Amino acid sequence: MIRTTYRGRNIKVLAARGKPGHVNLVINGRTIHHAWQGDDAQALDWFRLIIDKIENSGGAGMVAMLIPGQYTEPHWYEPGTIDINPAGHATRPGSTCMCSQCVIDDPCGSKGRHAPLPVDACRYCHQLRDGHQHDIHFLNPHPYTEPTATQQAGRQAAIDDYRRLDEDDDEATCDAIYPDQVRGYLGRPRCLYFADHRDAHDPDFHYDHRGFRWLRKAV
Ligand SMILES: [Zn+2]
Ligand SMILES: [Zn+2]
Ligand SMILES: [Zn+2]
Repeated sequence: MIRTTYRGRNIKVLAARGKPGHVNLVINGRTIHHAWQGDDAQALDWFRLIIDKIENSGGAGMVAMLIPGQYTEPHWYEPGTIDINPAGHATRPGSTCMCSQCVIDDPCGSKGRHAPLPVDACRYCHQLRDGHQHDIHFLNPHPYTEPTATQQAGRQAAIDDYRRLDEDDDEATCDAIYPDQVRGYLGRPRCLYFADHRDAHDPDFHYDHRGFRWLRKAV
């Protein structure tokens, strides 16, 4: 019998009852073979080989593109270092799974079918605390669990990156602000047309995200 950790994964190799020369293989609590032919040392070598292959192929989310149909499941990764998307597939925190099931082929470029997780999503699934269902088909039942610091940091970094990209790409908007407070608004309405109003239905008016319009004074 072997109980060890390799690259963050908890690994167990157990004798297969009634089957000499065979072992049970368990990774992060999941039995992946009930009767694997070989001894403890061979089993451990096999685990190391697979885990190295996963890491050398980009790790969670990426390996699924290079080795289709393989290693999308969370038990292949160090617990708490990955996100789990709505398909039950492992990704880097704040990232997407590149398997053929999770990718939308689009003329503008392929992209993930599932959005990266919000910072506060559960440690073991894609759900938030509010309305978290303990039973979802592909995972062990579990209550909402706070994400790890690694997950939170990865998700936040992805959000920051996205914002930065957004700002770089964005052309300046008009940003004119309505001079008065409007009922039902927390702040003052802000115009979202381009600075020169060339995208405006009626360039003589400013227009905010809720459809509020006000006259644009001659510039
Ligand atoms: Zn996937
Ligand atoms: Zn959960
Ligand atoms: Zn405007």
